[in-house]
Order: sequence, then C-alpha cells, then structure tokens
Amino acid sequence: MKKTMKAAVLHKIGDKLRIEQVPVPEPRRGDVLIKVTACGVCHSDLHAIDGDWSPLPNLPLIPGHEAAGHIVGLGEGVSDLKVGDAVGVPWMYSACGQCEFCFAGMETICKAGEASGYTKPGGYAEYMVADAAFVARLPKNADFYQLAPILCAGVTTYRGLKRTNARPGQWVAVVGIGGLGHIAVQYAKAMGYRVAAVDVADEKLRLAKKLGAELAVNGREKNAPQVLQDKIGGVHGAIVTAVAPQAFEQAIAMLRPAGTVCYIGLPGGDKDAIRASISAITNWELSVRGSNVGTRLDLAEAVAFATNGLVTARIKKVPLEQVNAIFDQMRAGKILGRMVLKLA
Ligand code: NAD
Ligand code: ZN
Ligand code: ZN
Repeated sequence: MKKTMKAAVLHKIGDKLRIEQVPVPEPRRGDVLIKVTACGVCHSDLHAIDGDWSPLPNLPLIPGHEAAGHIVGLGEGVSDLKVGDAVGVPWMYSACGQCEFCFAGMETICKAGEASGYTKPGGYAEYMVADAAFVARLPKNADFYQLAPILCAGVTTYRGLKRTNARPGQWVAVVGIGGLGHIAVQYAKAMGYRVAAVDVADEKLRLAKKLGAELAVNGREKNAPQVLQDKIGGVHGAIVTAVAPQAFEQAIAMLRPAGTVCYIGLPGGDKDAIRASISAITNWELSVRGSNVGTRLDLAEAVAFATNGLVTARIKKVPLEQVNAIFDQMRAGKILGRMVLKLA
C-alpha cells in the first residue's frame, strides 16, 4: 500500500483548501523528497487560490513555496545532497538552464520555469519533492520556522532592494509592511540604507519603526509621496510589496529625481493596472521596474543574512488545519509579520 500524508489541497479556484490524506510523492531523477517541518503562508498563495493570476495554477493544487525541512529521499543522479540535509523550497521550483535568460544569470525570468505550489505541488504538506538543483541549502541546525519566510519574502525583497540600485546611506521606501515588507525593512537596514516605511495600518508602521525604519507614513491618512518629498526630498529607491494599485502609483511619486521603484506586489485581476505621470517619469529620469523572486545566488545570500542574525522574520506558528482562517485574516490585512504552518 502506498504511504499517505496530510496536505491542504485546492480543488477549485475560489474554494477553501481541504485537509486530506494524499499519496506521498516519489522523487524522480534529480529530485529530493523532503519531510516538511514548516511552510510560510505568502500572499501569492492567496492569489493562487483566488485565481487572481493568469495562467491559473494546476489543479488539484497543494500550495506553499516557503517550505523548509529535511531530505528523506533522493532521486537518481542526486550527488551533492544527502538524506538528513536541511533544505528550503522557494517559489522557483526550477528553470531550464538553457535559455538566453538562464545563460545571463536571470533564471528568475526563464519562460520554462516551474513554480512550487503553483505549477508543482508545494509545501502545505508533510512531504514534497523538489528539484535538487534549486533547493536552498540550510545550516544543519536551522530553525525551519524562522527560515521559512526567508525562502520567499526574504529573497524577493532582498533582490528587489538590490534592483533599485540605491547605494548604502541613501533612502529607500518600503511600501507595504506585510509578510514581505517587514522583512524588507530589515534587509534594507542591513544593506546600509535609510528606510521610510509606508503602509495603511498603524500597527504595521509601529513594527517597521521597531525594525529600524526612520520614517513611517500611513498612506491612507496622509499624502505619503508629499510627506517623503517634504521631509527628505524623496527616496532614491522604493520597493512596493502592497497589493493595492494606489500604492504602486504613489511609489513613483515618492522618488527623488533619477530614483528607481521596483515593483514586487502582484495584485492581478482587475487591480492589475496603474495610472502614472509620463512627464514625471520623463522629466525626472525615473525608472520603474519589476522584480520576480530571486536567483539561487540571491537565495543563498538572503539566507546568509538571516542565519547571521541580521534579519529575523516575525512569525506565528499555526497548525495546517487553520490555513483557511489565515487566508481570511490575510484578505482583511490583519496579519502582522508572517504566519508559518506547522507540518511536523
Ligand atoms: P501581505 O498581505 O502580508 O502584505 C501586504 C501589505 O500591504 C499589508 O501590510 C497591507 O497592510 C499593505 N497595504 C495594503 N494596501 C496598501 C497601500 N495602499 N499602501 C501601502 N501598503 C498597503 O502580503 P505579502 O505576503 O507581503 O505579499 C505582498 C505581495 O507581494 C503579494 O501581491 C504577493 O503575491 C507579492 N509577491 C511577489 C513576489 C515577486 O516575486 N514579485 C514574491 C512574493 C510575493
Ligand atoms: Zn511568496
Ligand atoms: Zn531558462
């Protein structure tokens, strides 16, 4: 008889996840089988479940792309990892390695890439398989709960900050202080930036201040771009991890001349459009760009910040059975930091 495991499964877009017994997957050539200990709940999982993005995820779907645990099985041909190793599974399940983007060290935009918990089964399960070439190598005694959020929220904001091209000592705005944003504030500090935090919830702004933001502005109560222009002359760089299009529009106006805003949030659906001032972008030579998760090198660097104590996710551990309630809280913007599911 096939061994089974507990998993949270989506059968239809818009439905709740169902906690079920499903077969434990088998590692194929180049894969590892992981016993998952912890998996963070990212807003991208909510987008997947709600069907906000095109193409839609493969169904039935086990979401989850902030998974961490131990290797318990190896597929053929895996030589650089062994049973017992601590690893993490990020969104980037794999990339082709053969296209112009992969050759250029831009595997994040490989068109043949697969995504954990979207095109491939993810970490809301007791076991999962992953491509050995793309898992994060974690330290032997890694705290899987602490490191889970680094596997998406961490690497994504770390890369996004780098892509603003801001230099140490300069100002960056972190717009959206959620799961991603509260970690972004810490990377920004550790990278030597001065940080302005923008959110629409005072509780999140208080957290940002505690984590090192010098300025915190409530974008609902105040004209955040105006505040930043008046107080500091605008920011050199900004990243947007919010899920509301207004935040993406406002972030352009927060920049000082020659500034760069890096979009990270992915509202999707009918929220996937913005209005921007062409003349502001042209006259002030602004840059608007995107950033999609991170390469394996970004991931290794992002993990090192965390294991060296420079970045610590604010987490709450929750049983897998509560996952639907967590999504309700996330929709309402009520989560402070990151929720991490307990699988073991
Ligand atoms: P989250 O729900 O934890 O955080 C979102 C935050 O945005 C909340 O704190 C909320 O209060 C704040 N917010 C809402 N409206 C705002 C506004 N108008 N101005 C400022 N802040 C506002 O979500 P998360 O897990 O941090 O994910 C954020 C987004 O990033 C999602 O769309 C997710 O899909 C996306 N994401 C993208 C990548 C990528 O590679 N580009 C990777 C991971 C996540
Ligand atoms: Zn994510
Ligand atoms: Zn490729």
